[in-house]
This record gives sequence, structure tokens and C-alpha cells, in this order.
Amino acid sequence: MRYRVLRPPYCYRWAVLILTLVTITTFGVAALRGSSAEGAPTATKPVNQGKSTPARATPVTAEVVRHTERPGRVVALTFDDGPDPVYTPQVLDLLSEHDAVATFCMLGSEARRHPELVQEVLARGMRLCDHTVSHDRDLRTRSEQRITAEIVGGWTDLQIAAGRDVPIPYFRAPAGNWSERTSAVAARHGMRSLAWSVDSRDWTLPGAERIVTTVKEGVAPGAVVLLHDGGGEREQTVAALAELLPWLLAQGYELGFP
Ligand SMILES: [Zn+2]
Repeated sequence: MRYRVLRPPYCYRWAVLILTLVTITTFGVAALRGSSAEGAPTATKPVNQGKSTPARATPVTAEVVRHTERPGRVVALTFDDGPDPVYTPQVLDLLSEHDAVATFCMLGSEARRHPELVQEVLARGMRLCDHTVSHDRDLRTRSEQRITAEIVGGWTDLQIAAGRDVPIPYFRAPAGNWSERTSAVAARHGMRSLAWSVDSRDWTLPGAERIVTTVKEGVAPGAVVLLHDGGGEREQTVAALAELLPWLLAQGYELGFP
């Protein structure tokens, strides 16, 4: 009788013990799975961010850059609206001839048409700058979505044209029409807004000599010079560059980056 009376509690204890073990195991595995499932997106996020902004080491500010990266007698030449199959190679040859570097503010639409030029610009040690997909001069007045599409789209076009993850440290607003919003969107994607301190006004086609004079008069240590290798007739710019490069070097300037 006693035996029979005592037996159920013993059975109950074993059942409780087994149930507890099963519960711990089940919940333990579930918890591990849960944490790894939750951990996955957090682990993926930085990777994605890294992918969308390969060269970004530190967060980028929305401040507009108008001077060279390094202090001293340095000048940064920037070429906009390319790549162009006629003028970009000529500009690259002149730069290489003088061991000079420059920054190329390219349009996504043109980069897509001439990916080999994007690759050549990179192979020559130049830097890329995102000048949007389609050069919408009124970009600053557009919606945030449209601004993002133009800026991130241009960035993506350059990456695809390059054929690999490449640093694109700068963004330049079409026609220099900056706004807080365009700079903020660019900064979020790891690009600093790049302006200039010397406008060569080569886009007005004033003649090579006039371009040379404008740059000579405006240049100073730390200057960022606006020039164009795309978007129309750029023979004057190429001719002016052939004169400006030896002159800059003779003045003791080094060619650098913004
Ligand atoms: Zn432009």
C-alpha cells in the first residue's frame, strides 16, 4: 500500500526532471537560434554599409570642401561631366606626362557608356567623384527621393563601371547647386560635398588663353580648380591644361586631391 502510495510522487519527480531537461534543451537551442537570427542582420548591416561605401573609414560630414586635403603648396584639379571618349584620355595623358593627379567628377549616365574610361582614370591613380546620374541642375529643388536616386544612382553607376568596389570620396552637385539636403544625402553615403575655389570658366568657351589666365590669377596654395573634360567641346580646356601643368609645377605647386 505504502509502496503504491509512494510511487506516484517518485514518477512525478522523474517526469518533472525529464520535462525540465527537455525544456531547457529546447529553449536553449531556440534561444541560440534566435540570437544568431537576430545577430545576423546586425552583423550584416556594417557589411552592407561597408559595401555601399568602401573607402569610408570615418563618418563623413556634410560640410562643403573647397581646399586641398594636404596643406602647403598643393593644388587640386577637378574635371567635371565626363568621362568623354575624346577628351578624358587627352586629359589623362597630360596629367601622366607631368606626374600629376586630379579628381574626376563623373556622370553616371556617361560612366555607363564608357566604363573603360572609368577604369583607366582609376588605373592612373586619379580619384572619382559622383556628379549624379543625369546632371539635373535643379537637383536641390527636388524631393528627397529624387535627390537620393540621382546621388546614389550616380555612385552605383560608377561602381558598376569600375567593375569592383572603389572609393568614391566626393560628391559634386550639378552646376554647384548645393543644398543642405544634397550634402546630407551624399554624406550619408560616405561622400563629402566637393566645391571649388577657382572656377576656370572653361564651360563658357572663352578660349584656352583666357582659361589659363583665369586659373593663374585665381590659384593659391590649397586651391581646388574647376575644369571640364566632358559635356561638350573641351579642346580649349585640354590646350589650357597643357600650358597650366608645367606652369603650376614651375611655381612650386604639387598636384593633389581635395
Ligand atoms: Zn557638371
